[in-house]
Amino acid sequence: MSASNPVLIIGAGVAGMTAAVELADSGIKAVLVERQETVGGNALDLYKAFPTDDCFYCFEGNRWRPGIRKCFYRSALIDQPNISLKMNSEVNTISGTPGQFTVTLSVGPQYIDPKKCTMCGLCLEKSKAFHLISPQCQPQAVVYNPSINDDGAKQAEEECPTKAISLNAQPTEEIIKVSDIIIATGYHEMKPVNMDEYSYGKHPNIITQLELAKIIDPNGESNGVPLKPSDGKPVKRVMMVQCVGSRDENYYPYCSKICCVFALKHANILMQERDGVQVSVVYMDIRTYDRYERYYHTARESGVEFIRGRVSLIQPREDGSLDIVVYDSLLNKYLKFSVDLFVLSSALEPPEGTNKLIESLGLKSASGFVGIADPKTENEVIVGDHIYACGTALGPAEVPESVTQARAAVSKILQSRK
Ligand SMILES: Cc1cc2nc3c(=O)[nH]c(=O)nc-3n(C[C@H](O)[C@H](O)[C@H](O)COP(=O)(O)OP(=O)(O)OC[C@H]3O[C@@H](n4cnc5c(N)ncnc54)[C@H](O)[C@@H]3O)c2cc1C
Ligand code: SF4
Ligand code: SF4
Repeated sequence: MSASNPVLIIGAGVAGMTAAVELADSGIKAVLVERQETVGGNALDLYKAFPTDDCFYCFEGNRWRPGIRKCFYRSALIDQPNISLKMNSEVNTISGTPGQFTVTLSVGPQYIDPKKCTMCGLCLEKSKAFHLISPQCQPQAVVYNPSINDDGAKQAEEECPTKAISLNAQPTEEIIKVSDIIIATGYHEMKPVNMDEYSYGKHPNIITQLELAKIIDPNGESNGVPLKPSDGKPVKRVMMVQCVGSRDENYYPYCSKICCVFALKHANILMQERDGVQVSVVYMDIRTYDRYERYYHTARESGVEFIRGRVSLIQPREDGSLDIVVYDSLLNKYLKFSVDLFVLSSALEPPEGTNKLIESLGLKSASGFVGIADPKTENEVIVGDHIYACGTALGPAEVPESVTQARAAVSKILQSRK
């Protein structure tokens, strides 16, 4: 094995970023490959984070750095010379032997050079092809959508004060040699478009929990005030339904593990921090593992209404509200509700392309998430020879768990290099 070869990390969510920074700080070079235009993964849009209720942007997923505050997304990813960050990029092929992998990457295209962009906003005024993903995005730069190639975009390219824009940028192929591979590809929130019983995608006021997180985020469009997507009027009554696509043989047989906790987190934010909002939760079981039982107690104390049962019927009304009939299995009765927003706690599934990646590494997976090499050692981060996985790539998990696994993977790599 060539110990000087870098480590490849696939996915720059909380887990992948943690692994990259830990390796880099230990003097090991890391190539961090991310398919999106910003790092942070799903955590970028989550507002407050359990278990500490810190704002996600400042979540202590990483260590404090002098002069940069403790903000995760502004920490050393960009400045660390040992990290090579490849945005908008994917792994094409992996060959070679454990410890000496040869990896072909598809990199870019890089329409905006993040080192040059000063976020002056000129291009945002010129064309809708440019936008800012989030005020906290990292790298701190605007992004460009090539499908909107209007005259304003060309003008912006010419007038950008730092010449950061290159509309004709092309993807490039890079071949790298790496000693180890860390899979940190995370999860995708299932969009339940095929579940007719929930009418998702057919009515604007039927949304998922990730979509709700964006609505209640003070950095969002409505500054965190819950407004109905249909007409922008205030939301007063919210119903959430649990286990959408999880624990369901037709979709995913597993429990997605954290959706009870994030539904309760959102219910508590709505009841305690937003004026006059009433929340009901329809559930099969409430699974608040470990320290998260307190979110359930808080929800009970704040007046969240819990109904054990199933949603039987959804009928949209002309004013955008929804009439919902729920079968209450404890009362053995059908109950009727009228709500402004219907929120689905949808299953967490492996992101697109994970199966192909797993197969190309000679691994197997029953769930679609990266399989565990030895089922007796659950949460084991080693999944192959010189191949590791961490965070939600291994299955649904919270941030602290993802960060711990990332550190465990790094620790195993450090041990193997001694
Ligand atoms: C509604 C909701 C609320 C939540 N609230 C909390 C909370 O309050 N507290 C908490 O601890 N947890 C919470 N979570 C869980 C939290 O989102 C995860 O624990 C965390 O984001 C996992 O990070 P990750 O890096 O494993 O995965 P992700 O955030 O999914 O990151 C994976 C990254 O890999 C990239 N990627 C995927 N495939 C490829 C590929 N083939 N090539 C290149 N890049 C790839 C993705 O684009 C993404 O950037 C919540 C989840 C949801 C859905
Ligand atoms: S005009 Fe150039 S520097 Fe200004 S925000 Fe756009 S890309 Fe960045
Ligand atoms: S965590 Fe709760 S909502 Fe999610 S699948 Fe498990 S029981 Fe259902």
